[in-house]
Amino acid sequence: SAEKGPSTVRVSVIGTGYLGAVHAVGMAELGHSVVGIDVDEDKVAALSDGRAPIYEPGLDELLKKHAETGLLRFSTDYAEAADAEVHFICVGTPQRADGLAADMTFVDLAVDALAPHLAGACLVVGKSTVPVGTAQRLANRLTKLAPASSDVELAWNPEFLREGFAVQDTLRPDRLVFGVTTSDAEVTLRELYADVITAGSPVVVTDLPTAELVKVSANAFLATKISFINAISEICEVASADVTKLADALGHDVRIGRKYLNAGLGFGGGCLPKDIRAFMARAGELGASHALTFLAEVDAINLRRRERVAEIARDMIGGQLVGRRVAVLGAAFKPDSDDVRDSPALNVAGRLHLQGAHVAVYDPKGMDNAKKIFPTLEYAPSAMDACRRADVILHLTEWTEFRELDPARVAAVVNDRNLIDARNCLDAEAWRAAGWTYRGLGRP
Ligand code: NAD
Repeated sequence: SAEKGPSTVRVSVIGTGYLGAVHAVGMAELGHSVVGIDVDEDKVAALSDGRAPIYEPGLDELLKKHAETGLLRFSTDYAEAADAEVHFICVGTPQRADGLAADMTFVDLAVDALAPHLAGACLVVGKSTVPVGTAQRLANRLTKLAPASSDVELAWNPEFLREGFAVQDTLRPDRLVFGVTTSDAEVTLRELYADVITAGSPVVVTDLPTAELVKVSANAFLATKISFINAISEICEVASADVTKLADALGHDVRIGRKYLNAGLGFGGGCLPKDIRAFMARAGELGASHALTFLAEVDAINLRRRERVAEIARDMIGGQLVGRRVAVLGAAFKPDSDDVRDSPALNVAGRLHLQGAHVAVYDPKGMDNAKKIFPTLEYAPSAMDACRRADVILHLTEWTEFRELDPARVAAVVNDRNLIDARNCLDAEAWRAAGWTYRGLGRP
């Protein structure tokens, strides 16, 4: 097993999903000795075998590398975390079934399972996205549940990684946020991230509630920016204006910026939608729901995009979906990911299917996950196969592979040359030149 160097910290990562698996690998890459704990036996078996249970660029390579360095192991047994000096909580906080709030069951169970194993001086660090006030609540819970002989502190270090760039974002984040109550905790976190800080990532040290709020505020802002341009896109549509040109022009203003200003099918995934809803729910609990009512509009604008794309598809083929063939390019909620949680692409595919269309879906990495949540769609082995005999093609997730499709070759296999580019990123001129009726969103 690995030699413990002078700056090696023993770390546990509780929950090894999209966030935790990458964080565990990232901590090993920074030279720490890491054990990842998850209740999902299949996931732990795959990770232990050096196989990533999710698709994330670069993850497989680093898993293999650190299986060999001996810095990284995985277990379903919390006892394996007992000798770690720092424990990261990375379990899921999905939307509750009965409302907008976050389901805190997994976080609470993880803390309850970890507490009896804590020993000596150690730091428990929350990374999951949580309602403000959770950190303090968990600190109190730990005080109650950890052995009297232990000396446990709690800190909050929210995670901002983007799926598809998760490894790079973990090793070189735009910033690190340390929510702490003592300088000891800050020192420990600075030691843990020493190489990241040296490489230039700025650190913001704050109290616990501010750290929790930075994360949900960031996601609220990003969601708002996307819904802003999608609202403008609705206006462009009725005014025969071009939202992509408009966004380019807006983006030159450095106060606005061009990023996250792409009109299209809107946001989805396991974070933005549930995070803005949980934020609204928490504001309500704190008696401040008025402050975030705009997020309900952000959510509504976003969901309207899915409806609108399905409507355009129906109109494009003459108003009747029953028995017609629809090709859907994309199932993942974004490119370079296999994550289909609250995926706009699958949502549109499902809508059209439920209105009677025959829907054939292709996604480079998201097929297995999509089949699990939407087994009644047809899943084609390639983009070309999905397009065969289609009356309309919907481009819904902006994979590079789809940008490289040859309009003439696709034209040869379809029933009718109708294309909806719901991500506004295909070469409209090239498709039109090959005889296609090309429709973007918010563009003439
Ligand atoms: P996920 O569902 O992929 O992973 C959660 C993991 O926790 C699963 O593997 C699950 O088996 C495990 N788990 C559940 N209960 C457990 C328990 N009691 N003990 C041990 N493991 C347990 O979710 P995710 O996308 O990794 O998100 C995790 C958290 O990170 C969420 O709060 C999310 O909002 C936040 N986050 C996610 C991202 C992202 O891009 N995915 C980015 C930033 C923050």
